Amino acid sequence: MWLLSVRSLTKYFGGLSALKNFDLEVETGEIVGIIGPNGSGKTTFFNVLTGMYQADSGEVFLRDVKENILTKRTHHIITLGISRTFQNQRPFNNLSVLENLMVGGHCRTKGGIMSALLKLPGARRDRVWLKDWAHEVMSIFGDRLLSMKNNPAWNLSYANRRRLEIARALVSKPRVLLLDEPTAGMNPAESLQLVQNIQEINQRGVTVIVIEHDMNFIKRLCQRIVALDYGEKIIEGTYSEVRNHPKVIEAYLGQD
Ligand code: ADP
Ligand code: MG
Repeated sequence: MWLLSVRSLTKYFGGLSALKNFDLEVETGEIVGIIGPNGSGKTTFFNVLTGMYQADSGEVFLRDVKENILTKRTHHIITLGISRTFQNQRPFNNLSVLENLMVGGHCRTKGGIMSALLKLPGARRDRVWLKDWAHEVMSIFGDRLLSMKNNPAWNLSYANRRRLEIARALVSKPRVLLLDEPTAGMNPAESLQLVQNIQEINQRGVTVIVIEHDMNFIKRLCQRIVALDYGEKIIEGTYSEVRNHPKVIEAYLGQD
C-alpha cells in the first residue's frame, strides 16, 4: 500500500522542464533511491514535494491526508510528515547541535515555538520532551553527535554537519524522510556508517527517499531505484535492473 503517491508532477523553469510527468509510488517502510546526472531534476522533485517551489501540474498524495499536499504550505507539509535535508547544508551555525535539533522539533510540541519564546505554561514540559527526543535522535548516530551536542554547528566536521542535517529533519517526526546527497563530503568509511544509520532510521518506521551519486551507497541501502534524466524517469527497478539499463549507462554511469 502506498504511503506517498506522486502523479504526473511537472515543473518548468522558463522553457526548461526541470521535472516532467514524474510518477512515483512509495510504499510504507521502503527506502527508494533517486539517481541521475547533474541537472536531471532530482532536487527539483524535493523542492516541489516540500512546497518550496510551486508545481506547474501534477498531484502528490500522502496516505491519510485527504487533499493533494501540493496545495499546502511548506511548514504544513512538515507537520503532515514530510521532512528533508538539503544538498547545500543549512544548519543554524551559531546554535549548538542540540539547539539546532530543538528548533527542528518545535512543530511537534503542543505549544509550538511561540509558546516557548513567550515562556507560556506548558512550554517547560514541551522543552523537557523535546530535549529527550533530540537526545534519542542523536543516539542513532552513536557518539558522533552526542559528544558534540553543546558545540556550535559551525564547529562541526563536514560529516557531522551531514548527520546534524539528518537528525534535524528527524526530530520533526517525519513519515517520509527526504535526503539530498547525504554522503557529499564523506569518506568511504563514513558513507558506510551512514548506510547503517539510515537503516536504523528506517527500522524505526521512517520511509526514506534518498538522492545520491554514490552507486555503492545506493546499492547497499535502497530496495528500489529511480533514474532521472532531463527531468524524466528513464527507469525504475532494482539496483541491477537500473544499473544495467542502456539509457542509465549512457546518461549517468557513462559520464565518469
Ligand atoms: P539535480 O538535483 O538533478 O542536479 P536540479 O533539480 O537542481 O537537478 O535542476 C534541474 C534543472 O532545473 C537544471 O537544469 C537546473 O538548472 C534547473 N533549475 C533548478 N532550480 C532552478 C531555479 N531555481 N531556477 C532556474 N532553474 C532551476
Ligand atoms: Mg541536486
